[in-house]
Amino acid sequence: TKWVYTFGDGAAEGRASDRNLLGGKGANLAEMCSLGLPVPPGFTVTTEACNWYYANGRSYPAALEGEVEEALNHVGRLTGRRFGDPGKLLLVSVRSGARASMPGMMDTVLNLGLNDETVGALAADSGDERFAYDSYRRFIQMYCNVVLGLDHEVFEEILEDRKASLGHELDTDLTALEWQEVIALYKARIEEELGKPFPQDPQEQLWGAIGAVFSSWMNARAITYRRLHDIPESWGTAVNVQAMVFGNMGETSATGVAFTRNPSTGEKSLYGEFLVNAQGEDVVAGIRTPQNITEAARIAAGSDKPSLQKLMPDAFQNFVDISSRLEKHYRDMQDLEFTIERGKLWMLQTRSGKRTAKAALKIAVDMANEGLVTRAEAVARIDPASLDQLLHPTIDPKAKRDVLGIGLPASPGAATGEIVFSSDEAEEAKAVGRKVILVRVETSPEDIHGMHAAEGILTTRGGMTSHAAVVARGMGKPCVSGAGSLRVDHRTGTLMAMGTALKKGDVITIDGGNGQVLKGAVPMLQPELSGDFAAIMEWADAARRMKVRTNAETPADARMARSFGAEGIGLCRTEHMFFDGQRIVAMREMILADTEKDRRAALAKLLPMQRADFLELFEIMAGLPVTIRLLDPPLHEFLPKTEEEIAEVAAAMNVSADKLRQRTEALHEFNPMLGHRGCRLAVSYPEIAEMQARAIFEAAVEAGRKAGQLVVPEVMVPLVGLVKELDYVKARIDQAAKAVMEETGVHIDYLVGTMIELPRAAIRANVIAETAEFFSFGTNDLTQTTFGISRDDAASFLETYRHKGIIEQDPFVSLDIEGVGELVRLAAEKGRAARPGIKLGICGEHGGDPASIRFCEEVGLDYVSCSPFRVPIAKLAAAQAAV
Ligand code: PEP
Ligand code: MG
Repeated sequence: TKWVYTFGDGAAEGRASDRNLLGGKGANLAEMCSLGLPVPPGFTVTTEACNWYYANGRSYPAALEGEVEEALNHVGRLTGRRFGDPGKLLLVSVRSGARASMPGMMDTVLNLGLNDETVGALAADSGDERFAYDSYRRFIQMYCNVVLGLDHEVFEEILEDRKASLGHELDTDLTALEWQEVIALYKARIEEELGKPFPQDPQEQLWGAIGAVFSSWMNARAITYRRLHDIPESWGTAVNVQAMVFGNMGETSATGVAFTRNPSTGEKSLYGEFLVNAQGEDVVAGIRTPQNITEAARIAAGSDKPSLQKLMPDAFQNFVDISSRLEKHYRDMQDLEFTIERGKLWMLQTRSGKRTAKAALKIAVDMANEGLVTRAEAVARIDPASLDQLLHPTIDPKAKRDVLGIGLPASPGAATGEIVFSSDEAEEAKAVGRKVILVRVETSPEDIHGMHAAEGILTTRGGMTSHAAVVARGMGKPCVSGAGSLRVDHRTGTLMAMGTALKKGDVITIDGGNGQVLKGAVPMLQPELSGDFAAIMEWADAARRMKVRTNAETPADARMARSFGAEGIGLCRTEHMFFDGQRIVAMREMILADTEKDRRAALAKLLPMQRADFLELFEIMAGLPVTIRLLDPPLHEFLPKTEEEIAEVAAAMNVSADKLRQRTEALHEFNPMLGHRGCRLAVSYPEIAEMQARAIFEAAVEAGRKAGQLVVPEVMVPLVGLVKELDYVKARIDQAAKAVMEETGVHIDYLVGTMIELPRAAIRANVIAETAEFFSFGTNDLTQTTFGISRDDAASFLETYRHKGIIEQDPFVSLDIEGVGELVRLAAEKGRAARPGIKLGICGEHGGDPASIRFCEEVGLDYVSCSPFRVPIAKLAAAQAAV
């Protein structure tokens, strides 16, 4: 095994594609060398050496020492210097560098090789004694901090004391002699703290630093970072050792960082900062204000400090050329580090730059238009999930935030409005044109109208999959859930937040992107769906195979989804239509009815409302498929719960509270999600299914008449486990269709299909497909029933599971491909075998999750269906999955 790879002077043993072996930094340094760019010569100790180190009780492979020595000699030959030789002093930097950039690991030791003797050589070399001693004390500080584990504070204290007694304000006020005194104090303190002197032997220093890099792979911060970002421990880190170049050798030296394009807007202009007479850490430390690199940026920023362009025009031009060359070479926006030593430019790092979602779009589109990448590559470069940021209003990053409390970022976007504490208040306020935030302890299906009326929703209890969170995401409304430090006090009608009592009508802002609850109105930025966004979506559409539909039942949601490019409705949950005003009354009458006749009478009142709902959906989705699901939830969800509510409803309905209570109790279930719901309702009360089917078909006829365009409704039966359940319900649907056709004389094409939401349905999919004309995978319930965990209650322990590494992701968010996915795959195969060409889709939450969408493409589903705001995400993910 070769443990060490050298680079320098236009040649390198490694290259960009060796990222796994050399780490990102090392591989790119090698690549830059091969491109002939000015890179200080050096070498990379491989990630394999790091793995060997851990596999062998933190020791080094036998050959490593020799290879490092040989590589150091190579660097010496290229620079005309020798490590540890005061006559021809060679100093090095030591940096870590894993495959992926990893904050939390040892970063950098500069000026390594300095000691009491070589510091004199540096002074002679540079002709600047002050610079030499300043470099030495920086080295001591850095080395002690990152290699020997001594707190930075120790040195700061000494330095501040010294400055105070010398009457100096700035570090730069210290003379060479004064730095020497400081160094003496440092060394004394180190000996006191560590029981041994600061290492003088450059070899010992070097191996100390290499060991520190390797050790930092296993420090607590790095381990946490890896866990959060799914980085395997087995990757290891490389170590990069490079000849020092100095950005702090006077006024013709500088150091800086830059991006080849603006990382926050994506604008095609070099963007960066630098400091004159400074070393790397000074730029990040933020002690001095960095200067702009280009004149244009300086003018834009209104800075009176000269730009690099003005100060060092030659080095600047060289840097501009190199940065555009690197961008073309890597075909991506680069994040660069450089140092200028006495007028000469050196490149220290290049890598693909991090960027905002907005910048990512602009850069991808511009690069495709420039011919630097193909359109398919441009599409592949956008993280679908990041589009979420762009679809909602967001808080202006420049705005001041007065934080009242913090909860979970349950649904993205920001919203401002007056506080209301009930859904009725929300609706009333909306009716007179006021904007409100619905503030609840938690929400229930009865709050749907209030959630619709509100600009945003804030709850003080509940997780990411609480009712409020799920429904808000579906509606595309900003939501902060579970803001536990806030307290709703219904008695006094206040929201208590950190000692302040907020009342109904007080204005707050919620930020669903980070969970913050803010006082007052805060300036916002509106989403921009044209331009680059539209271009990427168009290119994605061209690349995609699967269709993308939406889960929607209200006209507002359906319209929004269509404006986002939805290609039909994949799931209309009809129960959501039964909560509004008049409907809930008729619904309750139906539930309280003792006979089928009374039930039918109540249903007759619901029919025209349903028909109008469906007609509107058909019109909005003109020319596109619409899947309507029959009633799914248990009936008791429509009944009042508390005694107070029961009394109120009983009075309004003109029935006795006793009767209402009795019915509520009779309908009570221990396990409603596994209870009397879905097609089981239709089997018990076929008249409900008949009414819904009739409403669908009558609406279809009317839509056809009005628009002269045929609608092909897809009627979907939920929670089927047995084919006979489906057979039974389908017979009622067919009967309704026949009746409507006879009455109207209009022929209707329609499909009857089923959701696949139970393991039994997946296993028996071949038999079910003999009746079902389409399948839609209801992966919310399918996940619930496959795992045997409640989708409403699992959040609490799933978080623990994640923490303990038992699961990686919440299976209700990202499809459990190995388990639930296997059932989907099986059902798709069996369904196709029994009914070739059977239409297959997914309408669980997973239909909007990029990883799950990739799986859907793999098993060949025809479409995914997701909440309106996820439509663009799903389209992009479907395109990426297809190429
Ligand atoms: C499902 O179970 O995946 C589904 C889409 O239905 P619901 O979420 O309404 O139960
Ligand atoms: Mg379901």
